Amino acid sequence: MQVIILGSGSPLPDPDRAGPSTLVRTSAGDLLFDCGRGVLMRAAAAGSGAGAFRSLFLTHLHSDHITDLNDIFTMRWALSFEPNPLPVVGPIGTDTLLRATEAMLEPDIGYRLAHHADLQWRPSSTVTEAERGVVFDEGGVRVTAAPTDHAPVRPTLGFRIDDGGQSVVVAGDTVPCRGLDELCSGADVLVHTVVRSDLLEQIGLPRLTDVIGYHSSVPDAARTAARGGVRTLVLTHLVPAPAPGTEQEWLDQAAAEFDGEVVLATDLAIIDIAR
Ligand SMILES: [Zn+2]
Ligand SMILES: [Zn+2]
Repeated sequence: MQVIILGSGSPLPDPDRAGPSTLVRTSAGDLLFDCGRGVLMRAAAAGSGAGAFRSLFLTHLHSDHITDLNDIFTMRWALSFEPNPLPVVGPIGTDTLLRATEAMLEPDIGYRLAHHADLQWRPSSTVTEAERGVVFDEGGVRVTAAPTDHAPVRPTLGFRIDDGGQSVVVAGDTVPCRGLDELCSGADVLVHTVVRSDLLEQIGLPRLTDVIGYHSSVPDAARTAARGGVRTLVLTHLVPAPAPGTEQEWLDQAAAEFDGEVVLATDLAIIDIAR
């Protein structure tokens, strides 16, 4: 398996970091986890695209993780040569989100159907709302979901991908919790969203300090990785985006809690999982 960080950013617009999104390249095809700002630009750079995603998995419905859902929904359809429903797995509420997205796009759907004689079907999706358990099992690849803790955002999910003895966990936004610990046990790679709570406290803006309570700090994520005995911890969804020259601080904070390899994500970083 291969993990490609499509977007290492956060809700805060950044010239170098797209919104949260992770591509996991498996023997069953490309699996996409969340679809933040700029996801299809980065997917194009990774040699993937809306028509290539075997399935889209949503960790939760916070705007930064779903910003470009409409782009995937439209491009998968408008560039297709036959009906190609988008499979989506997410928490309760995902079906409502997909219906609302389709409704929002209704004028565009009408324009394109009227303009292209060979496009004779509407865009569509197949939605699976999950709380825990196996949510994808194809071609020897299994994806397992478990509840995470991002309260007051409820419900939220983490995912574990198993393929041929290799395993990747995509945590989404969460504080340390049992559901995530279950997914992480013995995993090769943990992709974890983090915030620098020390820096956000220094800035002192209430809107930013609010963020601390429902995310993992870098040491939190590192302790989760250590408890699970994972091999590689990938820090992503970096809040605030690291100022140039401060990258080592992030790595040092993680290394104080975790003996394994730590990667500070950048857009299009590739983590190869080979034993
Ligand atoms: Zn969130
Ligand atoms: Zn987020």
